[in-house]
Amino acid sequence: PKGLMWFRRDLRVDDNAALYQALRACRQVVCVFVFDRAILESLPRADRRVEFIRESLVELQAELEALGGGLIVRHALAEEEIAQLARTLEVQAVFANRDDEPAALDRDAKVLGALANAGVAFHTAKDQAIFERDELLTQAGQPYTVFTPYKRAWLAKVDAFYLKAYPVRSHAEALAPPPAALRAPVPTLAGLGFEPTNLSELDIPTGSQGAAALLGDFLQRIDRYDQARDFPAVRGPSYLGVHLRFGTVSIRQLAGLAHPLSLQGSAGAATWLSELIWRDFYFQILAHHPQVAEAGESRSFRPEYDRIQWHHGKHADQWFEAWCRGRTGYPLVDAAMAQINQTGYMHNRLRMVVASFLCKDLGLDWRRGERYFAEHLNDFELASNNGGWQWASSSGCDAQPYFRIFNPVTQSERFDPEGKFIRRYLPQLAKLSNAAIHAPWAAKPLELVAAGVELGDNYPKPLVDHAEARERTLQRYAVVRQGE
Ligand code: FAD
Repeated sequence: PKGLMWFRRDLRVDDNAALYQALRACRQVVCVFVFDRAILESLPRADRRVEFIRESLVELQAELEALGGGLIVRHALAEEEIAQLARTLEVQAVFANRDDEPAALDRDAKVLGALANAGVAFHTAKDQAIFERDELLTQAGQPYTVFTPYKRAWLAKVDAFYLKAYPVRSHAEALAPPPAALRAPVPTLAGLGFEPTNLSELDIPTGSQGAAALLGDFLQRIDRYDQARDFPAVRGPSYLGVHLRFGTVSIRQLAGLAHPLSLQGSAGAATWLSELIWRDFYFQILAHHPQVAEAGESRSFRPEYDRIQWHHGKHADQWFEAWCRGRTGYPLVDAAMAQINQTGYMHNRLRMVVASFLCKDLGLDWRRGERYFAEHLNDFELASNNGGWQWASSSGCDAQPYFRIFNPVTQSERFDPEGKFIRRYLPQLAKLSNAAIHAPWAAKPLELVAAGVELGDNYPKPLVDHAEARERTLQRYAVVRQGE
């Protein structure tokens, strides 16, 4: 039989579950990637992720060609294109890795229907997670909503079977080159209707080779991850998020490296593995509760939190704009927003700080921040992003309690004590002392003058007073308790 391997967010050859299954099942496997118009049309015209995907596809195409196959790359509506290609290529089956985001499930249902009409089978495989959907349930057969018991169950179940790599290369002889009429280089960015970004100037290597380089670097530091990961000025985390997002690295490979190290007593590896488990946790939350992140109208995991009256109107819009542009007057928040705006990455500690600031200092609806991150993060992952925002706004499963409100100045003093991160992104504050840089409005006027800082001019005055904002938030959240 002949098969079609449809790459989506799994842009690698090695340890690719669906590709392995296709190669095992078929004598000839043709590969395709579709730049889906349904997704691309909603994106801003300069988008680092489109560029990341394009660069990664160039590598994937070359790798498949070197193995005797190839990669057809189309720019079309995936829900129509796949069935059409299946007919043109006269395949009996299409293979793809599962994606449980609501929009992807909709798309796949349409593809399944169209393929069924053409008499073509559609096989999907688990590839993105170690455990997905119903694979881990409580003893009562319910999905987990609390992380700690989920993690315990995850660790109890995981073994070599779940972490083993699929030996794709041993079956590569089934890879078939596309027919000449469908052979073409990956379209250019301009051909896709996009403008170049600053991706190539950033330290974000693309493709499986880029992922391997980042992983090699991180493995030197993994034992210190637990200590280093909270300090945004330090190279503590792996920076693999974008590679997990687009599948240029395999989750089995990562968990398969971290798990034995953690069993051997590496606290760093254990903490990092825990983060990978959070990723699985949020995937299964989204799979079981898709209403938390349905297109454009995310709902609180805890419905009572949708009673909250968020600050809205013109004034709120101005505050939101200031948050987006990194002009809140709180240096750590503003430096963090400069990081996401300039690079598409934001350190995890800072994601928590700016998310808390948006909903608990500015009183703005967390969904506004969720959307902003969705648009700007290179590693944007619907399930984790929604989970992170609902954690910060306290509306999520296993979230921060609503009365726990991050103090943006204390966070800054603890996690960027020398203001190194702030100085990197807010050069206008670089000359302030370590004591003054976290809250310039409280600095002595002479120090501000000496450092060349003019509040309200080259750096904003704080939008809100944290202590007052905190009181307003406690009142705003009080509705959550009504009717309990
Ligand atoms: P590392 O620290 O090296 O962690 C390794 C991997 O573990 C990450 O790449 C990620 O896949 C996973 N991971 C780590 N922390 C978490 C977590 N808390 N929840 C789920 N998975 C985790 N992560 C995303 O991948 N995409 C998002 O869109 C996203 N949005 C977030 C929004 C908010 C408000 C918050 C608080 C967190 C968000 N996170 C998101 C989680 C976390 O911040 C990022 O995964 C991490 O900063 C990515 O950097 P890294 O790859 O260097 O991470």
